[in-house]
Amino acid sequence: MTAIATLGSHCALQVLKGAKDEGLKTILVCEKKREKLYRRFPFIDELIMVDSFKEVLDAKCQKTLEENNAVLIPHGTLIAQMSSEEIESIKTPVFGNKWILRWESDRVMKEKLMREANLPMPKPVTDPKDIEKLVIVKRQGAAGGKGYFMAASEEEYNTKRNQLISEGVLSKDETLYIQEYAAGVLAYLQFFYSPLTNELEFFGVDQRHESDIEGLGRIPAEQQLKSKKVPSFNVIGNSPLVLRESLLDEVYTMGENFVEAAKRVVAPGMNGPFCIEGVYDENAKFTSFEFSARIVAGTNIYMDGSPYYSLLFNENMSMGKRIAREIKIATEKNQLDKITT
Ligand code: ATP
Repeated sequence: MTAIATLGSHCALQVLKGAKDEGLKTILVCEKKREKLYRRFPFIDELIMVDSFKEVLDAKCQKTLEENNAVLIPHGTLIAQMSSEEIESIKTPVFGNKWILRWESDRVMKEKLMREANLPMPKPVTDPKDIEKLVIVKRQGAAGGKGYFMAASEEEYNTKRNQLISEGVLSKDETLYIQEYAAGVLAYLQFFYSPLTNELEFFGVDQRHESDIEGLGRIPAEQQLKSKKVPSFNVIGNSPLVLRESLLDEVYTMGENFVEAAKRVVAPGMNGPFCIEGVYDENAKFTSFEFSARIVAGTNIYMDGSPYYSLLFNENMSMGKRIAREIKIATEKNQLDKITT
């Protein structure tokens, strides 16, 4: 029997509940500080206790996973806590394409793949001197929006950067990435691509709630102007969104273009769940500032099934369950190598 394993954070509950519902064994790699939380959930069959998630790279942990025929489901915590080299060195089969995760972490590679997929992107600004419009300044890697800030001129950029350095949020030698700010309605488009059927499925949309940028909108302009604090984009949670139906066709096209581009640049392509993240402007034109090449935590809002999956499946289908279903089918057909790396 195949087991499903994941790290105890991000969307672990959804992934393991989905696996259990599909009749698979569930294994959680769990940090000691979170043991009490995860023991609350009876659908987790086995906990591998670790001091830090990096222990997943150790021979002992990999041996346990191997003995259980485990497939490891990668999520945001794996990317945030391990380098691309470490992820690529994992011996346990990783669901989807572990090689594409490097393209998610590296800003230059990320831009290249998004361009290849024809995704409309905000203009990057290579030098703070060239800041003419409102820009957002980001850190390298998946910083989860912490320490990001906005600026409308070089002077404002320098003031805020210096302030964040003096507060210890940014380091002096950190290379920052500047991009034009895209105003509009945020939409994080969640997909699943199956290499078994060659079908792209649109799963759902979420919005991220980020602190304390959202808190700013709740105080009057007078107080906003007096505030000296640089607001951050730290993700706190997610909420659901459904799109105007007239936007769906373009959503599928974007997803298909992304799948095709990934096939060309990073074999075996964009297998499994992924997310295209961006903003709809006043003309309903989408601009994408980011993608995630694995399950996103925004799918947690649809643990009982999403609006769009209820159109495709006559049963409750979460993203976690969809992943488990794919693994189950591939195991039965002896095609696990098609959906793992
Ligand atoms: P994560 O790894 O959590 O996805 P990240 O570090 O890769 O985060 P982004 O997703 O690129 O960072 O940006 C974080 C947040 O900043 C977004 O969720 C969005 O609210 C905002 N944001 C990023 N880029 C833009 C942009 N160009 N225009 C408007 N808002 C943006």
